Amino acid sequence: MIDRIDVDKKGVVCCTSLYDGRIEKVLLKQNMIIIYVCEECETTWLSLEDVFDETKCYSFMPYIESLGMYTKGEKPDWDSILKVVGHVQISEIDDIAKKHNISVYKLK
Ligand SMILES: [Zn+2]
Repeated sequence: MIDRIDVDKKGVVCCTSLYDGRIEKVLLKQNMIIIYVCEECETTWLSLEDVFDETKCYSFMPYIESLGMYTKGEKPDWDSILKVVGHVQISEIDDIAKKHNISVYKLK
């Protein structure tokens, strides 16, 4: 488990892997599943619960490649693969942070 989570001024949850960007909600069109992806380092989590667990993250490209949505070496047609549907808000992870006793830091 991580020991802290950062939230920006607008209440958007930041990456728990490298603390370098915000976490986006990404809809995978092929299976209509939402995954969570850092906009900077592209660390990928499959659930909001997993965002708190450093052992449960993936690299985005190998992950979608493993699902057969992308073939290495080919130019991906992002519009047909995914849609960014927003950012993860603090209200969505508040309960999970409380449950695991994880401090929430509000960035200024
Ligand atoms: Zn990141």
